[in-house]
Formats: sequence, structure tokens, C-alpha cells
Amino acid sequence: MKESIAILEACQQIIDLKLVSGTWGNVSMRLESGNILITPSGIPYDEIREEDIVLCDKTGKVIEGKLLPSSELKMHLALYAKREDVNAIVHTHSLYASVASSIFKEVPILVEDVAMVIGGTIKVTEYKLPGTEELAQEVVVSIGNNNAVIISNHGQAAVGQTMEDAMLSAQMCEKAAQMYIVAVQTGKMPRTLSDKDVKMLYEKYVNSYKKLKEKR
Ligand SMILES: [Zn+2]
Repeated sequence: MKESIAILEACQQIIDLKLVSGTWGNVSMRLESGNILITPSGIPYDEIREEDIVLCDKTGKVIEGKLLPSSELKMHLALYAKREDVNAIVHTHSLYASVASSIFKEVPILVEDVAMVIGGTIKVTEYKLPGTEELAQEVVVSIGNNNAVIISNHGQAAVGQTMEDAMLSAQMCEKAAQMYIVAVQTGKMPRTLSDKDVKMLYEKYVNSYKKLKEKR
């Protein structure tokens, strides 16, 4: 299945981009049928094979697969239920997003590429235990219509229409967190882009650059 290949490629990219520590984090895709493919629980990214990826229905019931689905399945299901525009999710414990998740209530947008991909100030959720429905609901509320959210004392969740989009959101979320941490360390408060400009940049990206890319 082409979506399984996209998930395996995403797992490799997560390693290559250094967005992972140990086996933590998970990746999923929504199929046209509405069912969801998700990485299994507890298997390192570089050891996941196509047959290890678990197929669930939208309620989380396993349809196909010998292994258990990721322990954050509830978060993935809640995001797909809320966001019709989202077909891929990348959840990682990337370093700077995790640092920001324990310091800030939000990470403002400082540069245009982050604005274009994420679409708004990156919120940090309230703390909830991993794998719980409470965490899933916090993530849904805090991400709103943006393409990434930072999960308190935990990591980040990034979404997109395609796996390529979700992976870019994950990278931009990490970049935003890193930039803000570095900026704050200078002792000066960085100038942030206004909500209005962030929105305009996002719309411009979605309606022009992204469409040009899709045409290639
Ligand atoms: Zn996690």
C-alpha cells in the first residue's frame, strides 16, 4: 500500500532529521476509506517493516496487524476526527520542542517559512499523562486550525494533508522552538510576526506555492 511506504519513509526521515530519541514518537495516515494506518507500539523506527504497521478503523479497533498500535492512538484518532483536512500525523519528542514544552505557554512565530507551514502561534497544551483521552483532547483544542502543537513536558504533534506536509510541519515546529529558545537566550525579546501577517503568509503559501509544487 502506498500509504505504508509513506509511513516507512517518514520513520526513516524522523531518524535522519534527528527528531527522535529512542523509540518514542509515532506516525499515522488516514486512508480514503477513513481507516487509519499507524506505527506499532515500542518498535524502533529503523526496525519497523511494512507488515508491522497497524490498520485501525476510526474508533481505534484493529482491523489488520499482529502488533499493538502506538500508545498515542487516541491522540491520532481525535485529530483525524476534528480535522477533515488532515490525512497524516507525525508525533515526535524532538529536542527543542520538548525543551519549549517545559518552559513556555506558546511559541511565537518569528520567521516567514514557519508562518507559511504552521499557520499560527504554536500553543503548548496543559500537561496530561501520555496515551490518555485527556491528552488527546488537549492536543485537539490547542492545535486548533494550525499544523503543529507542542505537548506540555512531552514533545510535539504535527499534521498535514499529506505525509510530506506533516513532516514539514514537524520540522518547522522544531525550528520555531529552537529559534525562540536561542532568541530568548540573548536576553532580548524577539520581534514576532503579527497574527495578521502570519495568516496572510499561510494563505499565500497554501494558495500559491503549495499549488505550484503539487502541479509538478
Ligand atoms: Zn509521545
